Amino acid sequence: MGIKFSMLGSSSSGNCGLVETDSCKVLIDAGFSCKRILQMLDQLNVSIQSVDAVFFTHEHTDHTLGINGLSKFAHIKFFANRDTADAIQRKLTKKIDWQLFETGASFPFKELFVTSFSIPHDAYDPVGFVFNAKANEAFSPHSSLAWVTDLGHLPKSVSLKIREVDILVIEANHDVTLLQADTKRPWSVKQRILGRHGHLSNETTYELLASASDSQWKKIYLAHLSKDCNDTALVSKLFGSLQKNGSPLDIIVVDPI
Ligand SMILES: [Zn+2]
Ligand SMILES: [Zn+2]
Repeated sequence: MGIKFSMLGSSSSGNCGLVETDSCKVLIDAGFSCKRILQMLDQLNVSIQSVDAVFFTHEHTDHTLGINGLSKFAHIKFFANRDTADAIQRKLTKKIDWQLFETGASFPFKELFVTSFSIPHDAYDPVGFVFNAKANEAFSPHSSLAWVTDLGHLPKSVSLKIREVDILVIEANHDVTLLQADTKRPWSVKQRILGRHGHLSNETTYELLASASDSQWKKIYLAHLSKDCNDTALVSKLFGSLQKNGSPLDIIVVDPI
């Protein structure tokens, strides 16, 4: 089948990605309004009718805003672990028919094989995902993808798991100097972002990418950039020097929107 990936949008204000095989489509998170998600899909010539499921990483609004509207489409399945589903459900009036998974479990969904894993973030039970599909060079040169945003540090178990994929979506949330100089955020919020259960800085993500010479990565998306405390030009410059086997890494810096 192979896997294609499109980022609908990613920043501290909203996150949503589209994973496609030749016969199924799933969203990772739904952190924009339903109307906006439909517009973003439309720009990719994807109909909401062809979207089979949404997989949620955690309950924060920048990952869940669109669920109320999306739940009106009866064919879409909503996947989350129990604590995340409960936390999202508490903010909704409509009862969602949740497809629950255990954190750490692997399971099939249509042609995809999905693995969730725990990540350190200040939410009830936040996860990252790995999606695998059978190789199909005619559809896509890629057959695996990892999504890891919203984590305060990189446990060894996570950094090992995400090395084994073709497409890596990883957070480069903030530049530490820009965050410390920011005047909008109170000290407590800065401490939260910088903490062990906050968000990855450019520097931490850079260290991971620079040290993982044994990775399989063919394409890397740097995501969940802070609009106020990061800068795409700065990120492009920092990560632009990264190489693997003498060639530059294929890195896409996702413009925060
Ligand atoms: Zn979060
Ligand atoms: Zn987030």
